[in-house]
Amino acid sequence: MDATHHVGSLIDGTWREGADPVALHEPAHPTQVVGTFSPATSALADEAVAAARAALPAWRAMTSIDRARIVRKAASLIEDRGEAIARLMTREEGKTLAESRGEVHRTVDTLHYHATQAWSAAGTVYTSSNPVEHAATHRVPVGVVAAITPWNFPLLIPAWKLAPALVHGNTVVFKPASFTPLVAGELVRALLDAGLPDGVVNFVPGSGAIGAQLVADGRIDAVTFTGSEPVGREIQTVATARGAKVQLELGGHNPAIVLADANLEQALTALVAGVTSGSGQKCTATRRILAHRSIHDELLGQLAKRFEALVIGDGLQDGVQMGPLVSGHARDEVDAEVASAVREGAELVTGGPVTDPALDGGHYLAPTILATTDHTLRICREEVFGPVVTVLPVDGVDEAFDRANDTRFGLAAAVFTADEQVIRRAADDLAVGMVNVNCSTTGSELHLPFGGMRASSAPGPKEQGETARDFYTELKAVYVVPAG
Ligand code: NDP
Repeated sequence: MDATHHVGSLIDGTWREGADPVALHEPAHPTQVVGTFSPATSALADEAVAAARAALPAWRAMTSIDRARIVRKAASLIEDRGEAIARLMTREEGKTLAESRGEVHRTVDTLHYHATQAWSAAGTVYTSSNPVEHAATHRVPVGVVAAITPWNFPLLIPAWKLAPALVHGNTVVFKPASFTPLVAGELVRALLDAGLPDGVVNFVPGSGAIGAQLVADGRIDAVTFTGSEPVGREIQTVATARGAKVQLELGGHNPAIVLADANLEQALTALVAGVTSGSGQKCTATRRILAHRSIHDELLGQLAKRFEALVIGDGLQDGVQMGPLVSGHARDEVDAEVASAVREGAELVTGGPVTDPALDGGHYLAPTILATTDHTLRICREEVFGPVVTVLPVDGVDEAFDRANDTRFGLAAAVFTADEQVIRRAADDLAVGMVNVNCSTTGSELHLPFGGMRASSAPGPKEQGETARDFYTELKAVYVVPAG
């Protein structure tokens, strides 16, 4: 890995400098610089799209099995470089080293998984109404894909977009988040070192304006985006208006229902992980706990104790269980939302800013619990991207499910119960893309579909698992009769 930690744009196989280098600061030590990146200019982004278009015919003409070999080789390279990438991730984004290592391992598996899809059935043969006709489906790549990604999973989210895009024959222009271009660049380096032909992946770190330029570019056939709801909706409007395919993975307001018969120990362990892993900066993080009134007070007390016992600090240090937020601005925004909830009447049970001078001015926020009975508070409806959860009492299963569904989001939900009927009902009635029973809202498997419903997503195929292919290919019906 480049010891100087600098990254620019990759255009048609060549690293290029754009605007003046920008310093990237460590969230745990804001005065320390992790490295620099040179933001892509508009002209470079334009060249990136041209390069992706030019590389498309040769790339799509290769067999998917040959394309998958390159993706598998990139997985091996990331595995070999794993420890260095994980340490860089912790310094650049702030998550703990254990979390960064986990993300690297998951990225390796994700690349391997999508590579294996090269061997999946290419189409289906159907019975025809004409005895001499051969009727079948056939898949082709969509074309040039723009991948626009957030900072909270700077390696994994790009991997779960780029791997299926590449295996299924598309070329890519990849715009990472401006907080994490260094780690994102490591995925691109691994693909290049694995033998990816020039122009197949082009990398344009830069501002949101570069992302918007890609979305509006008529040479881009599909846009896959993970990030905030307002940006996602803007992308959807622009891309769909010009007939491009769009995939959106947006925010959530994920409820965890804890019923009277729940195993409290099991629920508490999952809730601590659901609220605090990644410092709560996960789209699937638990945002509301709907606790049956009979166990509400005990749960609140025990959760507060566990939050207060968590070790907060620089994620590179042994024993640290929760790192800082990604930036001072992010921390201040979350803090302001907590203060506003308290003004609206919520009780601050534990948490708030961390001012320990030993923590070097890092962007920390202690895991925070708010308690209220008012489900209409803004904090109960709008996503707050940090380690903050609101606990609310409910009186039974019907109320719990109604309250759980009563936001515009529909990403993930959890239910803690031993009742088989409630478990079956959860899969049917919770209006979310990912239902978790007796486990955290944040859990997911790379070979199952990932994504939400309603305001958390956009119509169309979900990411990950077999469904990933449906976004990155077009399905055709083909009818062949013998030449007459
Ligand atoms: P943003 O939406 O601000 O940014 C996401 C990406 O979009 C970044 O690369 C950003 O660039 C780029 N971008 C910003 N403005 C535009 C624009 N106008 N047109 C095109 N691209 C643009 O989100 P965050 O990075 O702040 O990520 C946090 C949010 O993402 C949270 O709301 C969270 O819920 C959501 N999220 C959802 C996930 C899911 O799977 N559903 C997973 C992870 C996060 P730049 O960085 O340069 O601003």
